[in-house]
Amino acid sequence: MEQLKSRNEVEEKYTWDLTDLFASDEAFETAVQDVRPEIQAFSDKFSGSLSDAKTAVEALENYKRLMESLVPIGTYANLRMASDQGDASAQKLSGLASNISTYFGSETSFLTSELLQKDESFLEEIKSQAPGFDNFVDELLKNKPYQLDANVEKALASYSTVFEGPYSLYQRTKLLDIDFGTFKADGQEIPLSYLAFEGELESHENTEVRRSAFRAFSDKLAQYQHTTAATYDLQLKQEKTTSDLRGFDSVFDYLLHRQDVDRTLYNRQIDMIMSDLAPHMRRYAKLLKRVHGLDEMKYEDLKISLDPSSEPEISIEESRKYINDALAIMGDDYVNMVNRAYDERWIDFVKNKGKSTGAFCSSPYGSHPFILISWTSLMTEVFVLAHELGHAGHFYNANRSQNVFDARSSMYFVEAPSTMNEMLMANHLLENSDDPKFKRWVISSIISRTYYHNCVTHLLEAAYQREVYKKVDQNESVSAPVLNQLKREVIEQFWGDDVSITEGAELTWMRQPHYYMGLYPYTYSAGLTIATAMSKRVLNEGQTAVDDWLKVLNAGGTEDPVELARMGGVDITTEQPLRDTIDYIGELVDQLEKLTEEIEG
Ligand SMILES: [Zn+2]
Repeated sequence: MEQLKSRNEVEEKYTWDLTDLFASDEAFETAVQDVRPEIQAFSDKFSGSLSDAKTAVEALENYKRLMESLVPIGTYANLRMASDQGDASAQKLSGLASNISTYFGSETSFLTSELLQKDESFLEEIKSQAPGFDNFVDELLKNKPYQLDANVEKALASYSTVFEGPYSLYQRTKLLDIDFGTFKADGQEIPLSYLAFEGELESHENTEVRRSAFRAFSDKLAQYQHTTAATYDLQLKQEKTTSDLRGFDSVFDYLLHRQDVDRTLYNRQIDMIMSDLAPHMRRYAKLLKRVHGLDEMKYEDLKISLDPSSEPEISIEESRKYINDALAIMGDDYVNMVNRAYDERWIDFVKNKGKSTGAFCSSPYGSHPFILISWTSLMTEVFVLAHELGHAGHFYNANRSQNVFDARSSMYFVEAPSTMNEMLMANHLLENSDDPKFKRWVISSIISRTYYHNCVTHLLEAAYQREVYKKVDQNESVSAPVLNQLKREVIEQFWGDDVSITEGAELTWMRQPHYYMGLYPYTYSAGLTIATAMSKRVLNEGQTAVDDWLKVLNAGGTEDPVELARMGGVDITTEQPLRDTIDYIGELVDQLEKLTEEIEG
């Protein structure tokens, strides 16, 4: 097992090139210095002076330009940190970025407050003079009932860095303080880290290595459970307080308000998957147990692949052809973007100490997307990359077509374009192989990666999170024992008697940063429900469906999730798309059982 390199030892050609944002850290610092007086000038000029719609439009245009100049600042600092949390100069930049963003927030909060004090005809007049601000104004109107007094809004905005405290504390504990050391298994001493565990060890085919890794990983997590729980509790208190202050009935309504969806859609996703998907996934767990000849199926065995020996290795260079071929159906412009991502170093492939775990795509307005991944050389990375390029393709299109206010779609919809690409990748791999072992590997990848990850891992987070927020709504505090118990109950409910839930599984709540992002976890399965319906349309109807989908991507955040899905021909106001998705997963498990008989028979 390899030791992680330091950031300065990795191969540069496989790192992202941030010079498209700023040529150097110095250029970044200059930009931060330059923007400050501009923000000041904006506030001096417009605060208290929005007397007519014409002035308001001028203010909005200035505000838009300021936002556009802050985007690269925030992105550059975030990406520098993401590539190495321990880098002192990155920490410094991050501090500068967060200061300027707080300053911007507090100096410009008057704009929203003052506009909200105007009557509706004033706001309608803005829309007629500057149709580009339609959505911005509509968003204001939507938030009008929850707006506080202007001075309170300003005070809250100046505390924004403090409000981000829990998330940054969580990340530091997780990525800097916890030292997992090494563990012994199978006669070797194996180094352990988040990256090693989630990237390789938790799906390691050697049962002793896998189970020992889980033991060592959980034991170490347990030592930090109280700090992590207290950090999380701060996050929850802050959300509940904001929800109460703004006059929401419940913290659920407050968090869903931002997503433009109501509780019906939210609850349906969790309830139906907990009850109707669980039987299919238990069948899948039984199949894993049988194929691997395990004595019993334990929680820490769930991530193993059905047949690791059929998983090809793949280099970064080779991945490009797979991605190009799978996504070719999206058209030349889309494929051109993919090639630029490889050629112009939009992607950070390397593994190094202090790098953020998992994978993400950041799509700053006015620039191009950046993708973080830690390449393991296993075939599964083509799915990860297809996924992240799905986010890239979404905002690459939306950022070109919409203004800075309108480019971002609701969180509910965000995972649809990404999981859509995973489906396109799977379809492509299946179409081009007759080998039952490879086919079984692909289908089991769709299950274990795409569906397991989005509809099980994240869904169990969502189901747990819903229980946490129920307590929050009752003004209860949470602590590690409470969180452990809630998490364990959800896991047990889903897997029933078919999987034995090892001690340590309940600490899974410590592993995800999602809990600092509102009601995020459930949106994975929501997005994937839309993607499943959409990829079926692409398979059956070809170009018509692709054209519809590109329109959806270009729409960015100009429509709410229900309307975006409708533009793609999918009606998420009914349970049908979710029902179809669950049935489809059931069919995939059937196919796995059949292919396994064929292979073994
Ligand atoms: Zn994603």
